[in-house]
Amino acid sequence: MLPEIVIIGRPNVGKSTLFNRLVGKRLALVDDQPGVTRDRRMGEVELLGLKFQIVDTAGYEDEDPETLPGRMRQQTEAAVAGAAVTLFVVDARAGITPLDEEIARWLRTVKTPIVLVANKAEGKAGEGGVLESYALGFGDPVAMSAEHGEGLADLFAAIREPV
Ligand code: GDP
Ligand code: MG
Repeated sequence: MLPEIVIIGRPNVGKSTLFNRLVGKRLALVDDQPGVTRDRRMGEVELLGLKFQIVDTAGYEDEDPETLPGRMRQQTEAAVAGAAVTLFVVDARAGITPLDEEIARWLRTVKTPIVLVANKAEGKAGEGGVLESYALGFGDPVAMSAEHGEGLADLFAAIREPV
């Protein structure tokens, strides 16, 4: 069985875009509307000498993005518990929000290695958010752009350590 890498984060940070970028196909629905990913999606990734299963989650997405719905959250928690690595994605353009902080508090309690990903970091607009994300307490963020395919080598370097 391939090691599983699970993507989590609040709605609209670019989890599904990152998933599609890694899988190389548009298996996950990307949208500006929060809550578009209805269930977990899996895909196989073989890139830069790493081979793993990638999982896109929607556990923190609901009609009201600021709530943490019990049932879907449980699914996400189960995925993280079984993961080799969890990618915790934040939006470098939007900066850190209370929901990011809430997810971070929970992630500090899990045993899975966490890689912090500051997505949407292309250009100047992402610089502030990348710096802010250090405060989440997961060390150096991987600054990247899932949409533009920037920072993938850094992401793989960060994944490689725990996997
Ligand atoms: P999810 O809800 O976390 O799965 O987010 P999505 O992947 O559906 O993306 C939400 C929105 O952010 C979409 O409009 C994407 O095109 C946009 N997006 C995703 N990645 C990037 C990025 O690297 N840079 C920018 N500027 N936008 C992005
Ligand atoms: Mg999604």
